[in-house]
Amino acid sequence: MNFDKHLIIAVDFDGTIVEDAYPKIGKPKIFAFETLKKLQNEGHRLILWTYRHGERLDEAVKFCKDNGIFFYAVNQSFPEEDFKNDASRKINADVFIDDRNIGGFIGWGKIYQILTNETPNIPEKKKGFFDLFR
Ligand SMILES: [Mg+2]
Repeated sequence: MNFDKHLIIAVDFDGTIVEDAYPKIGKPKIFAFETLKKLQNEGHRLILWTYRHGERLDEAVKFCKDNGIFFYAVNQSFPEEDFKNDASRKINADVFIDDRNIGGFIGWGKIYQILTNETPNIPEKKKGFFDLFR
């Protein structure tokens, strides 16, 4: 895949950007917002592609905005798109990032690496007392 051009990247919310706590908003997944910000800064277009709608959707969009992420479109291919029966509901994107991928969620560190060709600098989690027994 040619990653030099700008991509349209569709991203799921629950279980992908944040831990799945639907209808609540879970804790951000490790390195999710850092990766999304990097992609956003590189000029890729981010689309939020989620099952959420209405108030729950607004909460998710606001949560991302508060964390510095602005979506090009939400649950649509482009901002003005109006879903009717004469068009497919599937959105147009180059890449889909979703925790329901076959094979499971690969993690934001790996996503960062694939999309930027750089190795992420993820701070190591401090070891707690109980980690001694793992
Ligand atoms: Mg999900």
